Amino acid sequence: MRDVLMQAQNTPFLKDILKAAGLPSPVALKRGRGPYETVPLTGMTVVLGGAGPARGMLEDAVVRAGARLVVELPPEERADALVLDATGFATPADLTQLHSFFHPRVGTLARNGRVLVVTGNPATAPGVAQATARRAVEGFVRSLGKELGKKGATANLLYVDDDAHDRLVWPVRFFLSNRSAYVDGQPLTVTARTAAAHAVPPAMVFRGKVALVTGAARGIGEATARRLAADGAHVVCLDVPGDLKNLNATAESVGGTALPLDIRAEDTPGRLVAFVKEKWGGLDVVVHNAGITRDKTLARMDESLWNLVLDINLNAILAVDEALLGADVLRADGRVVCLSSIGGIAGNPGQTNYGATKAGLIAYVAARSAQGAARGITFNAVAPGFIETRMTDAMPVMVREVGRRLNSLSQGGRPEDVAEAITFLASPAAVGLSGQVLRVCGQSLVGA
Ligand code: NAP
Repeated sequence: MRDVLMQAQNTPFLKDILKAAGLPSPVALKRGRGPYETVPLTGMTVVLGGAGPARGMLEDAVVRAGARLVVELPPEERADALVLDATGFATPADLTQLHSFFHPRVGTLARNGRVLVVTGNPATAPGVAQATARRAVEGFVRSLGKELGKKGATANLLYVDDDAHDRLVWPVRFFLSNRSAYVDGQPLTVTARTAAAHAVPPAMVFRGKVALVTGAARGIGEATARRLAADGAHVVCLDVPGDLKNLNATAESVGGTALPLDIRAEDTPGRLVAFVKEKWGGLDVVVHNAGITRDKTLARMDESLWNLVLDINLNAILAVDEALLGADVLRADGRVVCLSSIGGIAGNPGQTNYGATKAGLIAYVAARSAQGAARGITFNAVAPGFIETRMTDAMPVMVREVGRRLNSLSQGGRPEDVAEAITFLASPAAVGLSGQVLRVCGQSLVGA
């Protein structure tokens, strides 16, 4: 569905009218395309502040990614990113550094710029004061994100355990690059809990790997299949047999394999295991994307609608994973990504069934992550907000327009934005991230 407001912003005459009428003026987001670049931050100027224990690692990550690192910005220049190492914060008194670093510099941040703060993990802080200071940073980042959205700029946060600084490289790259254009106001926690097997190849991170994407015929699933294939994965595209034409088209265009199966069918886990074992011996990446909505207020929702949504969005995922793990089909260092939703975080009227399934997945990945850690397997969830797909096209006009604008970036996301987040979490380099939920919602005001 076309975003008329966004298009009008690119027409000088209409832009002025919209401004005078007080309507939102969303900035066109700069997005990455195709496979990962080896130096993704080339051409960016990054101002780095703070002097915590992660400082050296952050400098290294930024410079190796191709950015120009400065401590002070020359006059008249714009910063593409402002990064603060807050891993040294020990008490709430240290929070003053948030003000002293960002206050004089925030005005220099370019359109589509990035703010990133890195601090210690409050959950593993050695004392009360340290835990308090670390968690305070999150409120700062979320608030700043809401101030910067009108520039198309984002602010995000990385919590990191003391023994996991070397795992910061990948999430730092993601948050500073244009791959995270629609991820705003989000915290992720980097830990050393999951065993890491090998060094990360710099390019084509999925070469030689086999990825399963469910619901791959269209929308987010199709975009994810394309994205994983662009970095070398062989993608097994699963979707309902009734959608064979679209499914075959997706599979063919990504050089993958079409697998027409209904994820809800009782025999699907067994058939899937047998198929994968015979063809490739195992899977490296599983993206549980297939999902449906059947909206009705609870009083009008009959049992069949309830069961259908619960079966496809939740029960099928548990059954497939049980089968994959039981048959040892999910390889060591495997990555599992489930599609949750902000509807599972905030709840929506008419979505008691959908909300239950998407909330369940949040606890599911957290519970599973401990089980996968010893074999290097991670489980994470991505929670999209308003994404321009068939699902949101079907909304009534006013509901759609409100949903699209109620976020810091005043626009809907694209399937490619979600595919980027999934690909980021599916990468071997994302070993520091497990049991987490990454929202791709432009910092939606719903459930924030
Ligand atoms: P979509 O365009 O409707 O695509 C979903 C795909 O999954 C469709 O091809 C669908 O086939 C397939 N599917 C449905 N039931 C299946 C089954 N039983 N077995 C196999 N495949 C099945 O949806 P989307 O918008 O890309 O959403 C993808 C995921 O993201 C979903 O889990 C959704 O809940 C989540 N999400 C989306 C948004 C958003 O704004 N779009 C927001 C939050 C979360 P059919 O065409 O036959 O239905």
